[in-house]
Amino acid sequence: MINFLMKNEICDYTLKTNFNKIEIKEYIDNYYDRVKFHELCKKCDKYGTLWSCPPYSFNVDDYIKNYKYAYIIGTKIILDDKLIKETKKEDVIDCTYKILNEVRKRLEKMILELENKYANSLSLYAGSCLNCNVCTRTVNKPCIQPETMRYSLESLGFDVSKTAFKLLNIELKWAKDSLPEYFTLVNAFFTNTEIED
Ligand code: SF4
Repeated sequence: MINFLMKNEICDYTLKTNFNKIEIKEYIDNYYDRVKFHELCKKCDKYGTLWSCPPYSFNVDDYIKNYKYAYIIGTKIILDDKLIKETKKEDVIDCTYKILNEVRKRLEKMILELENKYANSLSLYAGSCLNCNVCTRTVNKPCIQPETMRYSLESLGFDVSKTAFKLLNIELKWAKDSLPEYFTLVNAFFTNTEIED
């Protein structure tokens, strides 16, 4: 496992990222339950309204078996005490989305660049697609930005809480009446070759 810290100069948080590698076969055997997570996705209001979310028209089992290794990338967004204390209950949800979306976009740009470096690789994002205000799936039209649209681990059926806990040593925390001490984003990078550096 590798750790590094990145201090955000503009906003009141610090990013702490770590990585771990697992073979896809082992990852599927121990962290994958497509039926269970598909049922949970059905309860979300985004279900069937984004091309990045289920239901999918392709076979997910075959799709993930195209790869040999999963590099799990965990990013802890550690919030400053002042931000936590000063954010009012009614602003918690807005603040959460603002921070998560800002960090997600930065991470997604970086992880997509890795796809250019490693042939037959795939980026997986830490949530559903953020590209458009309204997804073209709502009007039954094809995705308009397939070059940057990617799926998430949970949407394919992987257990992200267990992944974070067992592979990254991170317990996920969520905002409730106040902001949590930290948020966690779990991205992944699937490859057919090992990454040396
Ligand atoms: S890029 Fe746009 S059209 Fe494609 S999945 Fe994302 S929101 Fe939908």
